[in-house]
Amino acid sequence: MKVLGVEFLRSAASAADFPRDPVPQLALVGRSNVGKSSLINALTRARVARTSAAPGKTRLLNLYLVRLPGPGLERVYLVDLPGYGYARGGARAASVFDALVGEYFAHAPWEGAARREPPAPSADRAAGRDPQARARPAGPAAAVLLVDARHPGLETDRAALDWLLRHDRPVVVVASKIDKLARAQRQRAEREWAAALNVPILPVSAVTGEGLNELWKRISRLLLSAPTERSVPPRAIPAPTTAATSPSSTSRRSRT
Ligand code: GDP
Repeated sequence: MKVLGVEFLRSAASAADFPRDPVPQLALVGRSNVGKSSLINALTRARVARTSAAPGKTRLLNLYLVRLPGPGLERVYLVDLPGYGYARGGARAASVFDALVGEYFAHAPWEGAARREPPAPSADRAAGRDPQARARPAGPAAAVLLVDARHPGLETDRAALDWLLRHDRPVVVVASKIDKLARAQRQRAEREWAAALNVPILPVSAVTGEGLNELWKRISRLLLSAPTERSVPPRAIPAPTTAATSPSSTSRRSRT
């Protein structure tokens, strides 16, 4: 997939910061340090997301706007979710994700003109604002669950998949860091992953680029079947609000 451009848009701390436009959103989900930032950079062939050797501490959603050549899919938001930590065993599906992620998935994908804020309070009307015209915050259309190829069947990853499926979003499960496994280890890991999750797993590497084209194909397929800007007249599409400061400085500052 040829990527025309990518920019860090903003970090979201609450629903007020979720996108309100028809650009489809793809949530990237996984444990801390599984390689989500590296995957965003590899998929977009840019250094837009900050990677680190230490587990991330961010509790925010980081939004990236990616421009694609189409046809059909011209823009997509990649949404990097907070990593879900290192708890071993016994993790209940419901407690894998924090409240912000729960809130994000509670928002349906953008559904066009039917999704509007409630009628304006009279003060808003008097001030000349028109919240009728303001679309509601939208949630993810689909998700990529990233798991570490070297650690098949972790309870937290299984719980995360259950959680995503219960939230009724199409999910692609991706095994990261596949370059770290020798051929025999890799075959064993792929078997164990398939048995543990009972869904197809796509092996990828942000280092060698393995699997990335196939992942873009699967992402496109999922998002093209979701509601997108294609179904909306062009004048109804609000321009995404970009951060006022440069993408990299904003992203560093806002991710603590
Ligand atoms: P995040 O916390 O999920 O965003 O993880 P990062 O993208 O920051 O990656 C965590 C560490 O794993 C970093 O040291 C990366 O360089 C490394 N890493 C990520 N993806 C790969 C990969 O595909 N192959 C290898 N060998 N290392 C990777």
